[in-house]
Amino acid sequence: MIFKSTRGIAPDKNAAGAIIQGIASDKGLYVPESFPRLAKSWEEYSAMDYKSLAYEVLKPYLDEYTEEELKACIEGAYTNKFQAEEVVPVVHAGGADFLELYHGPTAAFKDMALALMPYMMVEAIKKENENKTVCILVSTSGDTGMAALKGFEDVPGTCIIVFFPDGAVSPVQERQMRTATGSNTYVYSIFGNFDDAQTTQKAILNDKEFGEEMGKLGYRFSAANSMNVGRLLPQVAYYVWAYAQMVKNGRVKAGDPINICVPSGNFGNILSAYYAKQMGVPVNKLICASNKNKVLTDFFETGVYDANREFFVTNSPSMDIIISSNLERLLYHLCGGKADTVRELMDALASGKKYEATAEIKEGLKDFCAGYATEEEILATIGKVFKEDGYVMDTHTAVAYKVYSDYREKTGDETPAVIASTASPYKFAASVCDACGFPKAETEFEAIEVLSREGGLPVHYGLKDLESRKLLHTKAIERAEMKDQVRSVIVERTK
Ligand SMILES: *Cc1c(COP(=O)(O)O)cnc(C)c1O
Repeated sequence: MIFKSTRGIAPDKNAAGAIIQGIASDKGLYVPESFPRLAKSWEEYSAMDYKSLAYEVLKPYLDEYTEEELKACIEGAYTNKFQAEEVVPVVHAGGADFLELYHGPTAAFKDMALALMPYMMVEAIKKENENKTVCILVSTSGDTGMAALKGFEDVPGTCIIVFFPDGAVSPVQERQMRTATGSNTYVYSIFGNFDDAQTTQKAILNDKEFGEEMGKLGYRFSAANSMNVGRLLPQVAYYVWAYAQMVKNGRVKAGDPINICVPSGNFGNILSAYYAKQMGVPVNKLICASNKNKVLTDFFETGVYDANREFFVTNSPSMDIIISSNLERLLYHLCGGKADTVRELMDALASGKKYEATAEIKEGLKDFCAGYATEEEILATIGKVFKEDGYVMDTHTAVAYKVYSDYREKTGDETPAVIASTASPYKFAASVCDACGFPKAETEFEAIEVLSREGGLPVHYGLKDLESRKLLHTKAIERAEMKDQVRSVIVERTK
């Protein structure tokens, strides 16, 4: 399988090369040249366990990995790290099917990809005869940071540096990151929002001179954000899994369509659902759900992407994003791989923070629907489903459920729907307790106890004893200092 840059100038790569590279040298993102079709029947897929199914989905993309290598990666990623036996349970509640992606070590869906990516990276380093240490740079709105730290903790041949917006992630997310263990992990908060962190991180990754300077010290950079195609591919597997489980449970007849609704921020998760559709999962509508930062809703409604707008910090912080990086990949696919078109649109975004999709792209956007939910609506949704159905969801998942409910009401479309359930309710426990009418807790950590008691759920294993863990990373820096900080980490490591 060949991976191409969305901007058409950087050299093509195989999967291993694209995973090591992270972001293409022309600032584009690597995408598969074509979409392999799912080769087996739904009867066969329905009979597989998660790991076997993931292998089937990933194999055609990672075709330079041997069967043995890829299977070992998948075994390592999904054995004994997920609290649910089936890895990803599909739970029917509130008239929809919740694809629970949050049973991994950090209680958010990003574990699904970040449990696997380090294994793929280590294999890639061997395959490409890469003799430098791969330094993973991460900017995070909250959940990527911890999932990446966990995934890369003490992985040979790598180190990882995480930047998160100071004061703009949840107390639990902050605590997780500041207490991250591992001899190769580094964490800093920056004064600015997520978009600031991501923009500076991308600039560092694209800084040739700096790359050469660090290269002399034996280091090269890569990204663990969803701009790395190694993040997207593992996510495709769980949408195929969702459909196979729905066939198995009798929710759909093999071949009949489903809708998929995804709470979106950087657009990586829903893009993976689009890839699954291209591979042959029968999907009617892909529904893109946003919070009050509804730049994507407006884009799908008008074809105009306009980032000139106020930024809101909300109770679904992992979706507080205005520049959705992975949309670039969708534009590329929808215009039939015309990199010149993508470059023009991305240049317009960089200079004027705005672009309008071409007629061809607008036509392709019709596969999608979009909507958004306010903070009040999010809380009301959590409370309603808990009261009526006894099912507890987190604030991000509630965005998707609310947008889906609105869609269903407006269109009368009763196609069975999958809701991507992206975080454990424990990760945003105070909001969830508040929404369900549970007694008020003083701190986020107390709220975890309250939720467990009142909601009758066991505490997620990754969130136990958080308050007593030792603070290891406490430094806050200016955005302008990020590059110097990266340099000092590397210099320090080479001493
Ligand atoms: C990251 C995240 C999202 C957004 O996913 P994208 O792939 O960036 O669109 C939604 N919910 C949660 C809980 C997240 O951690």
